Amino acid sequence: MRIGFYGGVREIGGNIILMESNGVGIVFDFGRRFPTSQVFFNDTIKGRPEKGFEDYVDLGELPPFIGFYKSELPEEKSLPIEIGGLFFSHAHLDHIGQICYLSDSLKKFMTKGSFATLSYFVEKGIVECMPSNIEIIDGKTIQIGDFKIMPYFIDHDIPGAVAYFVETPKGLVIYTGDIYFKGVKSELSYRFVEYAKSLKPYILITEGTRIGWNGIVSNTEVELKEQIKEVANVFKGLIIGNVYEIHLARIETFYNAAVELDKKFIIHEDYANTLLKYGEFDRGALQILNAPNTFIYAPFGSKLNLPKEKFITKEEFLANQNKEILLLNFNHITELLDIKPVVGSAYIMSGGEPLSSVDPANTKILENWLSKFNLPLFRIHSPGHASETEILWMAKEINPEILLPIHTQIPERFNVVHKNVQILEKGVLTEF
Ligand SMILES: [Zn+2]
Ligand SMILES: [Zn+2]
Repeated sequence: MRIGFYGGVREIGGNIILMESNGVGIVFDFGRRFPTSQVFFNDTIKGRPEKGFEDYVDLGELPPFIGFYKSELPEEKSLPIEIGGLFFSHAHLDHIGQICYLSDSLKKFMTKGSFATLSYFVEKGIVECMPSNIEIIDGKTIQIGDFKIMPYFIDHDIPGAVAYFVETPKGLVIYTGDIYFKGVKSELSYRFVEYAKSLKPYILITEGTRIGWNGIVSNTEVELKEQIKEVANVFKGLIIGNVYEIHLARIETFYNAAVELDKKFIIHEDYANTLLKYGEFDRGALQILNAPNTFIYAPFGSKLNLPKEKFITKEEFLANQNKEILLLNFNHITELLDIKPVVGSAYIMSGGEPLSSVDPANTKILENWLSKFNLPLFRIHSPGHASETEILWMAKEINPEILLPIHTQIPERFNVVHKNVQILEKGVLTEF
């Protein structure tokens, strides 16, 4: 059995993992690199379209898999491995973002939650196509070649995130995906650790996002809610929150703050869109949307199929700013021109775009808008990943025979808790 990492090596995100046995392979995740990690290509410099995906494969930016892409690679550049399926751990773009490169005939496995997020990204043009051949894997076990693959729900800052347990001819391999221990579903992550530990795995492929971030504190959603209320207790105008539209738990935190502050919860229609999509399998999402104090702000009309009473009129919204919390994503910051936030308003950045660390240009634009409208900025956020100490604790606790770190800038750090950490080079298939 061989394992190779084709993305996510010494960087956060862009995960691509291959497991192969007897000429049949399975792949986990197929993510985009963050703009700050790009090496040869970006929005300006792309591979030559006449060459299909060859330029990316030549530079090691994409894996040389045969029968994998929408356009075939030259045979001499391809690994002679038949890929039987691609399994997505969750729908963040650094795990799913390149899905449109994939051949229609390739089977793609994901959870209902990931599919809902993907549908949202497709609607917004963030993912450029609706891929075909998607199979929902919630609760299923899939057999491909020598591999038996089981998804296992864990907590992360997006609905539908899973780890994978893979039975292989050499023993059990577990891939954590992205994992969090302070979220609203943290008991899933703790249960995952207990279960993984009990199976004494051969290999653990673990994320390590926050290693080297110099901090171990994570705020729970309840603590974040209290911080939002603290701001609202001093700033008596309109409270504007910027949450990533797919971060259901954080949307709920703002909703809970609004309820406790006795304010109306107004959401831009993008948030109503994701609540509707997640509501198909998560009752909590629908409860927020249907709550009597939740209203949608769609000043130019809406395509969403919701009763008229759910939409707040512009006049009513603007006249009662001191009794409202508004969720407004960066894409719609231009709404401030009509809203003209009243004196005493405040802006809470809570995990929405742009991320200041990877998108300084848009962060500057955002700051300019806030300063134009005299909005003080508060950062009230907690990242959806295990802290450095939590992730090291998890690796020690599960205690596999071999530990393979991915999705981290400092894989060596795992040596502190494990005596057999192997650090795979990008694009090198290693026998296990
Ligand atoms: Zn990630
Ligand atoms: Zn993630």
